Amino acid sequence: MDTTQCDVLIVGAGPGGSMAARAAAENGVDVIFIEEHPVAGTPVYCAEGLSVGGIEAGGLKAVPPYVMQQTLKARVIAPNGITVDLTSDDWTGYTLDRQVFDKALADNAEKAGARLMTNTRATGVIMDGSRVVGVKAIREGEEIEFIAKVVIGADGHWSIIRRSAGLDRYFKDYVTCAQYQLGGLDMDVGISEFWIGEKYAPGGYAWVFLKSREVANVGLGVRRKHTKPPIEYLKEFIAQDPRFRNAKILKKNGGICPVCGTLDKIVADGLMLVGDAAGQLIPMTGAGIHCAIEAGKIAGRTAAEAVKEGNVSAKRLSAYRVEFDKQWGKRIKDSGKVVKMLDKFSDDDLNTLSEVLTNDDVLSLANGTNVSATLVGLVKRSPVKIIRLIRAYLG
Ligand SMILES: Cc1cc2nc3c(=O)[nH]c(=O)nc-3n(C[C@H](O)[C@H](O)[C@H](O)COP(=O)(O)OP(=O)(O)OC[C@H]3O[C@@H](n4cnc5c(N)ncnc54)[C@H](O)[C@@H]3O)c2cc1C
Repeated sequence: MDTTQCDVLIVGAGPGGSMAARAAAENGVDVIFIEEHPVAGTPVYCAEGLSVGGIEAGGLKAVPPYVMQQTLKARVIAPNGITVDLTSDDWTGYTLDRQVFDKALADNAEKAGARLMTNTRATGVIMDGSRVVGVKAIREGEEIEFIAKVVIGADGHWSIIRRSAGLDRYFKDYVTCAQYQLGGLDMDVGISEFWIGEKYAPGGYAWVFLKSREVANVGLGVRRKHTKPPIEYLKEFIAQDPRFRNAKILKKNGGICPVCGTLDKIVADGLMLVGDAAGQLIPMTGAGIHCAIEAGKIAGRTAAEAVKEGNVSAKRLSAYRVEFDKQWGKRIKDSGKVVKMLDKFSDDDLNTLSEVLTNDDVLSLANGTNVSATLVGLVKRSPVKIIRLIRAYLG
């Protein structure tokens, strides 16, 4: 069996893995990142929405070919059809070409000196006692081994690295998504739509993100309380909207978004997890690209520093978690609490809430920023029933 040695071995060339590979290589250590598919970024399981801040955090510019459409306005549609249009001076959104975007992140990691091995699927970690010392993989039908000082699992929500290292097997809460890419449309450009309510997507929401005037990612995610598979809700959602009457289905995909927040344990001796593998998504929106990029950067740099210091213990590597939580911990936690709060809202309650919500309220609740102050403000102008539901969250 072939054995390859390196300082840092990263599994997965999504945004988290490529950013970790780039950061570790830029910090002067020997890095290999492996990807099970032939090309980084393909296939895509994503609605492809990202803020300009997220794009720039990846070291790219919000221009073609990475982005396809700018979002000038986010439109939230309540179950009774009331719409709240959101704009913000300090926020601009885009629909990416994620295939091109992810490939560019991986290319930049290679330019920084990391070696990418595609068609290489990790099958589990190699342990020495309780310490992770490498990864077993299959490459073109052959078993191979990587021996590394630090292993970073950036292999998505189903992470074989997390599970084979004995960390969490499952996420306590997750959204199951179905999505069609529809063509042949004639849409108003510049608007991304978020449809909320039990009737469209129980426990989640439906989205319409434009790739162009003619093409849109139309999908939805449902949580624990749904009674049908998400694809059935999606078919109903599309059938009720006359704009999609003559649409052609160009692509079908879907997937899982963990929404329970960052897992308690994302670091062990010789091991770090980043991105979806670690549960690092904003629970209210299921957005995880920006978090994965930031987590990857911090994890890659921390891994390189730890290797150079000769100390890859869980204690040393947990500096990564501390730094990530400083930036994102409160947002992810607060956003998770908003999800739990909204679980108690019926469609009628959501209709009532949409009448009192402002632009800034929705942005704050969706992104997990300034949540407590937003809810205190809402209590002052909401009807009694809504106040009761909000107070339960405020405690
Ligand atoms: C339907 C849907 C829509 C979404 N829409 C959005 C959105 O609009 N905006 C947003 O911000 N987020 C969105 N997300 C979430 C977002 O896609 C993820 O949070 C993000 O991709 C996480 O990046 P990552 O690098 O952690 O993992 P991933 O992007 O999942 O990358 C993991 C990589 O690891 C590889 N891999 C997996 N297992 C192995 C293995 N054993 N060996 C080798 N390689 C392996 C995979 O092939 C993949 O390339 C969506 C998710 C879904 C399911």
